[in-house]
Amino acid sequence: MPHTATAHLEPGSHALRAAAQAVLMQQGVQWTDLRAQVFDALAASGSPSSAYDVADRVSAAVGRRIAANSVYRILDLFVAHSLAKRIESRNAYVANIHPSCAHDCIFLVCQTCGRIDHLDDDTLADSMRSRAEAAGFVPSRPVLELLGQCSDCSA
Ligand SMILES: [Zn+2]
Ligand SMILES: [Zn+2]
Repeated sequence: MPHTATAHLEPGSHALRAAAQAVLMQQGVQWTDLRAQVFDALAASGSPSSAYDVADRVSAAVGRRIAANSVYRILDLFVAHSLAKRIESRNAYVANIHPSCAHDCIFLVCQTCGRIDHLDDDTLADSMRSRAEAAGFVPSRPVLELLGQCSDCSA
């Protein structure tokens, strides 16, 4: 797999969708029509979406009611395979804009407009992990979110 560590793809773009599909299929997981619809609905928004938001968008797109539970399972599958990230402070999801890179993202969460920005700093994440390991803790993933105001809202 080419190393595209910090190449961020545009949310909602063809390039992002193709990268997500490739990553899922490389891991031997099917890219079904419903999974594609869920990915498109998630990636269409630059803000974090709840499973209910995504279910509403998918339902509107396919013209029939898609249960939030089915969407939940697909979103969890996406998180497990690095196609999506959970924003814990919002109990919501965003499309991973670098699906082929499984590092720990740092999210900047605007508390005014809900926009999410994204930083990459592996030094910070790795140091959290190694400090935890030194304390005998087995980390699965750090939750790296800064709450505040984006450049538009703080202007
Ligand atoms: Zn990242
Ligand atoms: Zn904002």
